[in-house]
Amino acid sequence: MTRSIAEIRVHAISVPLCRSYWMSLEPYTRAAEVLVEVTTDDGLVGIGQIHGRPQDQIIGLLRDCVGPMLIGSDPAATEAIWEQIFRLTYSRGSAVFAASDGQPHFGAGVKPQLMAALAGVDIALWDLKAQAAGQPLYRYLGGTEPSVAAYASGGYYGPDGEPAIDLLVEEMTEYAGQGYDAVKMKVGGVALDDDIRRVAAVRDALPDVGLMLDANSAYDVPGGIAAAKAFEAFDIRWLEEPVAWFDPVHGTAQVATSTTIPIASGEQELHRWSCRDLVEHGGIRILQFDCTRAGGVTDWLKVAAHASAHGVLMAPHHDPQLHGHLLAAAPNGHVQEVFPNSDRDPLWAHLFSRRPHVEKGWLQLTEQPGLGVELDRDILERFSTAPPVVIEAAG
Ligand SMILES: [Mg+2]
Repeated sequence: MTRSIAEIRVHAISVPLCRSYWMSLEPYTRAAEVLVEVTTDDGLVGIGQIHGRPQDQIIGLLRDCVGPMLIGSDPAATEAIWEQIFRLTYSRGSAVFAASDGQPHFGAGVKPQLMAALAGVDIALWDLKAQAAGQPLYRYLGGTEPSVAAYASGGYYGPDGEPAIDLLVEEMTEYAGQGYDAVKMKVGGVALDDDIRRVAAVRDALPDVGLMLDANSAYDVPGGIAAAKAFEAFDIRWLEEPVAWFDPVHGTAQVATSTTIPIASGEQELHRWSCRDLVEHGGIRILQFDCTRAGGVTDWLKVAAHASAHGVLMAPHHDPQLHGHLLAAAPNGHVQEVFPNSDRDPLWAHLFSRRPHVEKGWLQLTEQPGLGVELDRDILERFSTAPPVVIEAAG
């Protein structure tokens, strides 16, 4: 039997956080995702999630362009559907959504938002494919082990961007107490001497815990090299996104060759071609491609395969309930980022009535078919900023 896509339902979720969580250059103040539910003609429901902005543009693309294209399609045709949507970014099909906003050559156009819309749909289709096979996604992709190493991500600056060393040490110590054997903190937002004091304080408090540093694209190349050199004394497992937005590949390579600390990057990439460049020319040892931001599972698998041929490990950004499955099935699956602080990540804490859980620093996937997640409908309604957008067959 060939199934077909009968309905696509899109939810805009945005929750104000109870304080600002400062990264190097900007505060994180809301937890926001677009959730996509794809329903087949025989009643299966696949769930996809999108980490992208602006939400209204992404939802508009799903409502007016991507969604109507897919109604009636075979949900198992992930490669064909991916190509069909991606082709919109470099064909005359793109004129439809670029025209009202000026010429794409001068910065208008919505390619990142289209890659995000594609991600949400594609993830839901993989959920459906595994459900149809009666297998959890990690098994459907060829994995056997439902446990994935996880690390605790946090260690932000204070509510006003200040070093907040006491708060930082308290938070990191709490994660270690929960059983995480690796933790990640922010750097790059204050003077290097202040960051050195922050890193030293965490290292002193937790001498045996793996420690990663995330600069969120804070430094120019000389600054990144100086910071990496200074952090080497603290036994750092990786330094993430050391270089600013304008020099992400060669600049990152320059930092990588100047330090013994492994360099991680890739959570902002939109597709496999830019991930290829990071792997082949960026000197990275860990790739963090986030398939909820762009590309979905279909592109993530290609990215991971290419990385594996270059000895680069996968450690995706965010969304353990999805990325955990992919790590469990990838030969170079390394470790999954988890935000254990429910104030910082209320979606992970509250949105699902069933999802993987973390036990002593290991993400335990469920054996339910597909992603195996179930939404808490009351929370979904409470976290939504508008009623869902529903796309179905006309008439
Ligand atoms: Mg990061």
